[in-house]
Amino acid sequence: MSAIRENITGQAAGSGGSTLRELFDRQRAAFHSAVPDYAKRLESLKSLEEVVLERQSEIVRAVNEDFGGRARQETLLLELAPLADLIRHAKRHLAKWMKPRKVRAGFNFFPAKAQIIYQPLGVVGIIGAWNYPVFLTLSPLIDAIAAGNHAMLKPSELAPRTAELLKNMIAAIFPEEYILVVTGDASTAAAFASLPFDHLLFTGSTRVGKLIMRAASENLTPVTLELGGKSPVIVHPDFPLRTAVERILTGKLYNAGQTCLAPDYVFVHESQPEGFAQLSRDVAQCLYPTWTKNSDYTRIINRSHYDRLTGYIEDAVARGARAIPLGNNTEGCNSENRVFAPVALLDVDDSMRVMQEEIFGPILPVMTYRKLEDALKYVNDHPRPLAFYYFDYDRDRAAEILRSTVSGGVTVNDVIFHIAQNNLPFGGVGPSGMGHYHGEAGFHAFSKQKGVLIQSRFSMLSFLRPPYGRFTDRVIRFLLRK
Ligand code: NAD
Repeated sequence: MSAIRENITGQAAGSGGSTLRELFDRQRAAFHSAVPDYAKRLESLKSLEEVVLERQSEIVRAVNEDFGGRARQETLLLELAPLADLIRHAKRHLAKWMKPRKVRAGFNFFPAKAQIIYQPLGVVGIIGAWNYPVFLTLSPLIDAIAAGNHAMLKPSELAPRTAELLKNMIAAIFPEEYILVVTGDASTAAAFASLPFDHLLFTGSTRVGKLIMRAASENLTPVTLELGGKSPVIVHPDFPLRTAVERILTGKLYNAGQTCLAPDYVFVHESQPEGFAQLSRDVAQCLYPTWTKNSDYTRIINRSHYDRLTGYIEDAVARGARAIPLGNNTEGCNSENRVFAPVALLDVDDSMRVMQEEIFGPILPVMTYRKLEDALKYVNDHPRPLAFYYFDYDRDRAAEILRSTVSGGVTVNDVIFHIAQNNLPFGGVGPSGMGHYHGEAGFHAFSKQKGVLIQSRFSMLSFLRPPYGRFTDRVIRFLLRK
């Protein structure tokens, strides 16, 4: 705790020598002096859109350097395109979202009126993760701006070049007392989380999510936690297996598996694991004919994550799993260049670390079931995941599966892409997170939904004052009617 205090009063890297607390206080004072109105929010969204689109090559370069090799198309398609889409969506709907919403006052209060007013909360904090370092830092900012807040951002220190670039981009378009980026290591992040924000949105691991919630509780700061976990896939035997494999592997191998929504493990019918593994080899080789010199294949972020993944395979094999390499031409993939060629694991069980921890890399355990209920029971006996994927064209069966599982979100007959729907709230449940953002859900997350009752000149309540008489008793009998 004392280290955190030092950091709050210590200097925030690159912010003109001010402490984090001073920066926060300045933002709060600025917010109180002029709460952003519709015009300012719209202008800010436009500025954000412009800077992202104008500086896309710099962004691609910074992310590429942080990963030591990140597919250019992945930065553009999976980070910048959805970001631009979310900004356009917010601009289009902002006026409607901001409108006070009239609701019916209770019949007993006739003719009073009721409405919900969406009010900005104040100064919000956003802590991002490294795996999609631009999207995960700037997409919550879109919602925070739309809702009329000031914001402080802390990108991940594991993507330092991107963090510096974000700081530079934001400083170029917004004054520090409105929106600013703070860079620094985990101790800066811890100090950041201890500021008395009006809301704090964190993206990262479940382990650090608990620390964030603990720090926020000191200030009773409400949190949105976007965490991780093991997102399962179940494939029904009637579903065309090749199509399932193509969709699963494409999603699994984006960013070399370093995706919070990546399918973590797959359940197939007990008659299919060998076929699934063989098709996975075919598909992986079509997607990536080579590995070490292939700029389409992203590298693992650092050596320790590379070693963690290698350790999963060694541990699983030592406990009886079969490792099936999915790539050809994988010689030269090593912890120096951090190219990790994908591997499927058959005959896995829960004694293996790979089935206990979020994989966050290109390893795909394949589980089997005899009856669909057995696979569902396994999923339901484990922590509630961020995402769940089910492959089946039978709508009734799919609907039943949706009813009987709880997860942050679902894509049926594909993976990951529910995140790219601007009209769907995005967020985990239980250990995979709490709260939602994106689109209107994000606008609400960063707004106070203030309930307002407007009493009329004539009020029925004036008949219900003491001294109570027969009329009051009649009203009570009516209210408590059976
Ligand atoms: P992480 O938890 O290690 O770090 C996330 C952020 O927390 C970083 O910015 C870091 O600076 C900060 N941090 C570290 N220690 C802290 C502390 N003591 N107090 C406050 N902040 C601290 O996560 P990561 O390795 O960057 O990301 C991987 C994890 O994030 C995976 O579990 C993944 O599933 C999850 N994730 C979730 C989503 C989502 O949208 N739900 C998206 C991407 C990643």
